[in-house]
Amino acid sequence: MKVACVKDDKIVIEEAPKPSLKDGLGALVKTLGCGLCGSDIVKFRQGSVKNGTVLGHEIVGEIVDINSKTGFKVGDRIVSSHHIPCLNCVYCKNGNYSMCAHFKETNIVPGGFSEYVYLSEEHLQNVAVKIPDNLTEIEASFYEPLGCCIRAIKRAELKPNSKVLVIGLGSIGILMGQALKAYQAEVFGCDILKERIDFANKIGIKSYYSSEVKNLQVDAVFMTSGADVTIDLALKEVRDGGKIIVFASTPKNFGYANNEIYYRELTVLGSYSPAIADLKDSINLLASKKIKVDNISTVYELKDIDKAFRDTIENKILKAYIKVK
Ligand SMILES: [Zn+2]
Ligand SMILES: [Zn+2]
Repeated sequence: MKVACVKDDKIVIEEAPKPSLKDGLGALVKTLGCGLCGSDIVKFRQGSVKNGTVLGHEIVGEIVDINSKTGFKVGDRIVSSHHIPCLNCVYCKNGNYSMCAHFKETNIVPGGFSEYVYLSEEHLQNVAVKIPDNLTEIEASFYEPLGCCIRAIKRAELKPNSKVLVIGLGSIGILMGQALKAYQAEVFGCDILKERIDFANKIGIKSYYSSEVKNLQVDAVFMTSGADVTIDLALKEVRDGGKIIVFASTPKNFGYANNEIYYRELTVLGSYSPAIADLKDSINLLASKKIKVDNISTVYELKDIDKAFRDTIENKILKAYIKVK
């Protein structure tokens, strides 16, 4: 089968052995497509993955072989996320599922940018779901990224009708903004790119240039931008006693000012990856059609995946969906 793998500073197509169930439990899934996540881009650019790594975890597929105690069967269209919490360790027991060692070590094999993937029985039991009939495969590909946003919103514990600002209107900012609206927040957004601001305004997120955001005094800021300078903006726009939800890494990795956190009684809160319950909420929210995800992705064939990475890095597109089948 064909896989797309990292090779130095490129993504190349190579032949690889097709995974099989042998006699074990799990499912062999023919990949229909896979979303390109910002974290794939970060791993690729930082060179933190070995040559030969197959990236991609926002998979949409069809089961072609299965041996499972779950109700899934051959022919089911499914989505799955990649990591699974153990539910038993100190992290899981405290709700920090994405810090769990088992969560970090579990994955789909070999990765989503591949003609076939193997999903373990554990994936099928915990993080895979059948795609509701009213969702297209591209809409369904937002299952995992929207799950991440929902987790951040839940962690923020907003009061009804809270005023929030989403800094960064890339695909995750657009998802976050819409999800926040679905959770009854009053949402503002900002970015430095005109086309992103226009796009956000068009789908009902009141958005501005970052340089033009003035004194919103929001209850919470959602940081989906990975630019260092946005930290100052977040501190300026959050009200005293408010929350800043950190949802992206920044290159220089410098922090929030201690004294400002203290004297202004701010809460700075990280949110990383979704928990199982957030994924369930995500698929239900997608099926409700309360948020629009059919116009975010640009579709690329698997053979053009390197271009999909470049176009994403150069901000030519909001998000890439790699059509595999
Ligand atoms: Zn992702
Ligand atoms: Zn655990």
